[in-house]
Amino acid sequence: MNDIINIISLTLNSLEKKNKLANPTNFEAEFYKQLQKTDLILEETEEIKELINVLTEKEKSLLNSEIPTFRELSQILSNRISNQQVKEFLKDFSYFISPSINNEIKTDINKVCADIADDPSKLMDQRVLRDIRTLTDKRKSNDKKIFKDKTNDVKKLIKFLGEYINNFVVNHTATYDEIARLKDEINSLSLSKSSLNDLEKIKSDLITTIDKFETSVKKSLDNQMECNCLYEKIEALQENLEKAEEEKSIDFLTNVLTRRAYSLEIDRLENEYKIYNSNYALIFFDIDHFKEINDNYGHDCGDYVLSTFAKILKNLTRTGDIIARYGGEEFVSIVNYKNKMEINNYLKRAKNIISNNKFVYNDTKLSVKFSAGVAFRNNYSSYKDTLKKADELLYTAKASGRNKIIIDDGNIL
Ligand code: GH3
Ligand code: MG
Ligand code: MG
Repeated sequence: MNDIINIISLTLNSLEKKNKLANPTNFEAEFYKQLQKTDLILEETEEIKELINVLTEKEKSLLNSEIPTFRELSQILSNRISNQQVKEFLKDFSYFISPSINNEIKTDINKVCADIADDPSKLMDQRVLRDIRTLTDKRKSNDKKIFKDKTNDVKKLIKFLGEYINNFVVNHTATYDEIARLKDEINSLSLSKSSLNDLEKIKSDLITTIDKFETSVKKSLDNQMECNCLYEKIEALQENLEKAEEEKSIDFLTNVLTRRAYSLEIDRLENEYKIYNSNYALIFFDIDHFKEINDNYGHDCGDYVLSTFAKILKNLTRTGDIIARYGGEEFVSIVNYKNKMEINNYLKRAKNIISNNKFVYNDTKLSVKFSAGVAFRNNYSSYKDTLKKADELLYTAKASGRNKIIIDDGNIL
């Protein structure tokens, strides 16, 4: 107690000497200075030392003396950030370290911030700082991964489009199946989770475009099919037309040229005759007493005789020569020749085959005879005259007893 009174007395004296007012602030500061000079330990000074211990090095450097006053300490401590300020800061801090896209580590961030808010002094705790560093690293690698994923997705889409465009340019066309396959391929392109919002939109736009493309190709295919269909119809009509044309030129019963077709052919032959002097014989055939066949055995039997007669003549006629049905049971043939003997042989053969064979119709065996008139083109000035002569000779053959071939050179077979 005496020690303290002694220190108080020393303090007051010193203040007086320094000409300082003995107010509580000056007194306290001077009191601790005097106290340091003694070995005396006071409870207050121990408390002050404890407070100094919680100060940072920087705060300690601000102290003017070894035992500062409570006032001095409170001034230094009042500069420290308050718990409330730390809590306010934590809100922004959590925002700063959150990853930009994928927030998988949000729970971890919240936990660290909650720990610090609970005890702001932990902000400087090594363990907490380490946790914050780990979270920041996670955030960085997360951002990197997302960037890589997205880049890969964009690469995938670009590669895909590149291949498609290349294919399109090379082939100049795309079939309906190809487009459908393309759509499937785009659909099955697996984009990373992080791309779901933005690149998925590009993907669906791409599919919409291809859908439109598909519709337009389908339409053009439909048009093409319609065209093909019409083309087929036209072809069928053309075929029918050709058939009708052919039917018009071939006699349906005897299968030789009709008279109409014959007249067209004769124009061609006449032309050749004039240019190449290719001589021909014009022969008129007429079945003898044909009416009787009809009358005795029926019209069908007559038809059979007509078609068989025509068949024999046709078989004897060479390519380039002509055999036609001139009317009823009358036939005309045009036979080109170099040597007259060829015509003689032709006529003899015709006569032999028809005369020496029986026409068999059902149970009926028939003998068929014919008469013919033959004129050689080079004996006349025109085709017309040649025709006239052959007709006249046929008439003569009929008139002179039938079953005769009369040639304009006077020969009779
Ligand atoms: P000729 O010896 O003088 O020639 O006497 P023909 O009986 O042969 O001649 P005609 O001119 O008197 O009679 C021809 C007959 O041929 C009359 C006709 O009914 C028949 N005829 C014409 N075209 C056909 C046919 O396509 N089929 C059948 N079965 N008969 C026909
Ligand atoms: Mg006749
Ligand atoms: Mg006749």
